[in-house]
Amino acid sequence: MTAIEQNLAKICQQIARLNQTSGQHTQLLAVSKTKPVKAIQDAYNAGQRLFGENYVQEGIDKIKTLSNLTDIEWHFIGPLQSNKTRLVAEHFAWVQSVDRFKIAKRLSEQRPSQLGPLNICLQVNISGEETKSGITPDQVLPLAEQVAQLEHLTLRGLMAIPMKTQNVETTQRYFAQLAELYRILGQKYSSVDTLSMGMSNDMQTAIEQGSTMVRVGTAIFGERI
Ligand SMILES: *Cc1c(COP(=O)(O)O)cnc(C)c1O
Repeated sequence: MTAIEQNLAKICQQIARLNQTSGQHTQLLAVSKTKPVKAIQDAYNAGQRLFGENYVQEGIDKIKTLSNLTDIEWHFIGPLQSNKTRLVAEHFAWVQSVDRFKIAKRLSEQRPSQLGPLNICLQVNISGEETKSGITPDQVLPLAEQVAQLEHLTLRGLMAIPMKTQNVETTQRYFAQLAELYRILGQKYSSVDTLSMGMSNDMQTAIEQGSTMVRVGTAIFGERI
């Protein structure tokens, strides 16, 4: 077994155990940014199917190289500039980092219709950090209303990266606030089924607060250099 296979097995076990307690079904997105194709293949061979990439060109290169693995679901999770939307719309199944209507509109217009709708999460800047992308909590419903009207997109939910802190209670509070926003959004839109929160360091807290998708890089693939 490779280290990646071992790491994956351990994380899947952890998720399964936490889900047993809570009765929910949290999916695992393997975040492979900066990691080689070989690492993705190892994870794939261990059964992993959902992969997340942050950089457009790097992501597209990997998608093309691995195009024979047709059941991989590729999620774009990084900041997206408007001049790169077409490549993303043509190659990814999901974009989790939408925080502007302009970007959403371009993604919808550029989505090849034979691929079916592109799945969208709105990125929320839950801890209000000035340097971070994402909308404020009070912008969620207005942007959702606009995005939900776009023909080639499906609004699936929310994604967030809370501020790093050693204080578990602070992280818990951010995740709980996201869960409440997600609940409200879900009442308005039947397509909403994804609350993407939790990474290597705070996966357990996120699942305890209701995450339906954790995005894990380091704990699967090792430190990024
Ligand atoms: C890099 C990244 C992750 C994974 O972070 P790890 O701490 O390595 O698990 C998750 N989500 C987003 C948006 C990222 O950019």
